Amino acid sequence: MFSSTVRHIDQIAYLKSLGIPVWVPRDFQPPEFEQPCAEEKAEIAQSAAEPQAEAVPEIRLSESPAETAKLDWPALIGMVGNCTACGLHTGRTQVVFGVGNQDADIMVIGEAPGADEDLQGEPFVGRAGQLLNEMLKAIHYPRESVYIANIVKCRPPENRNPQHDEALHCAPYLHRQIELVAPRAILAVGKVAAQNLLQTDLPIGKMRGNQYHYAALNIPVIVTYHPAYLLRSPKEKAKAWQDLKLLRSLLV
Ligand code: SF4
Repeated sequence: MFSSTVRHIDQIAYLKSLGIPVWVPRDFQPPEFEQPCAEEKAEIAQSAAEPQAEAVPEIRLSESPAETAKLDWPALIGMVGNCTACGLHTGRTQVVFGVGNQDADIMVIGEAPGADEDLQGEPFVGRAGQLLNEMLKAIHYPRESVYIANIVKCRPPENRNPQHDEALHCAPYLHRQIELVAPRAILAVGKVAAQNLLQTDLPIGKMRGNQYHYAALNIPVIVTYHPAYLLRSPKEKAKAWQDLKLLRSLLV
């Protein structure tokens, strides 16, 4: 467990990394995150009261094919490790299955492995991964406490976005991962992850700030920017912080 001081230091470090000014009075007593101050309560209440975005269609990951529906973790890992269902298998160094706590409250879903992930076999490593770790730590869910996966398990060439058919071929694997983890909430990071999970063409700027559901399992989904984008556009980090607080509010 983290002490309140450590929690506060984590938050301050994250806010500073976001470029958000932090003012701390000399006699400041760091609050418990689980007991937000009046201002934070007002922000959370305001987030909850804001009108929801227009309804999105049902997601397409609503059914596991027979081959994956009953698989346990070892069997699923084995099947994905040998998968050649789409063309991405030809360029991979290794499958990037997913990593983390298989009983996690939060499941983080990104789009696809990049070069670092392809080499290391783990999603969200490198600078973007480090920023994701900071983001998670700021809401007191360190990386090892969540489960992290991608829409597709093999690296697309030149780090392009996964194509529609590639995401479709890989969808049953992700669906089974979500079923097995059964998280209390999903954090979809980036446009590709959000659009595939929620089956919409809405731009991410319209999706973030709202609560959706992974319809097949009725799991809340919060959308935020991809950390790689945040590294390129640090001004958007403040919005990501709002998204993280919205996610956190679902879990208290
Ligand atoms: S991306 Fe998914 S569907 Fe395509 S080969 Fe890799 S594991 Fe199979």
